[in-house]
Amino acid sequence: MSSESLANELIKEAEEIEHAEAEDVLKWALDKFAGKVALASSFGAEDMVLTDMLIKINPKARIFTLDTGRLPQETYDLMEKTIDKYHVKLEYQCPDREALEKMIDEGGPNLFYKGINERKLCCKIRKIDPLNRALSSLFAWICGLRREQSVTRVELKKVEIDDAHGGIFKINPLADWTEKQVWDYIKANDVPYNALHDKNYPSIGCGPCTRAIKTGEDVRAGRWWWESPELKECGLHCK
Ligand code: SF4
Repeated sequence: MSSESLANELIKEAEEIEHAEAEDVLKWALDKFAGKVALASSFGAEDMVLTDMLIKINPKARIFTLDTGRLPQETYDLMEKTIDKYHVKLEYQCPDREALEKMIDEGGPNLFYKGINERKLCCKIRKIDPLNRALSSLFAWICGLRREQSVTRVELKKVEIDDAHGGIFKINPLADWTEKQVWDYIKANDVPYNALHDKNYPSIGCGPCTRAIKTGEDVRAGRWWWESPELKECGLHCK
């Protein structure tokens, strides 16, 4: 079978799997992209659900994370807990040293507060470039995105073609999950989670760019809280 007809067949299957349960979407992805599919984990609640599901399906499933160097200590603590509980070998993607040093030298260590361009530059060097490096060797990546998380995610599908990353497949098994489903799964399966979630941090990124939310605020209100909602993506999931 040619690579084009194989891709077409996968796209057809992807359309059929849109209504499948999360575990079945994961099984499909692990089967179709064996060894060339990985979970991109930022150790948020959704990523921990997917970690638990993945390791139960295949203990050798691949999980990579973007270690920006500015993550909260609680996230690093959760990495250790995840390794202890699931015996996984996490794959770390770190920023390019030269680019990082140049950025800090020119903009200062807290440049992200100075303007949208500076914030985007920091996200590019600490997240987007390392993500592109990770994805360059994969046929598919798995993400914990959900439709109800933000205005930028309402049209999310469980399986998408990721044109922004060379046309590889992007798998979103929890696309139609609610926040309650995520937490019900975590409690029912004794899944470890970030201690910041118990301090009103529903969405957790880098330490300097994440704050707790107040009652009634949108779940992503604490991410880059000084920016307007339509700008609140770091570029990892843009089309
Ligand atoms: S979230 Fe903040 S600290 Fe992290 S990469 Fe983006 S701008 Fe930099």
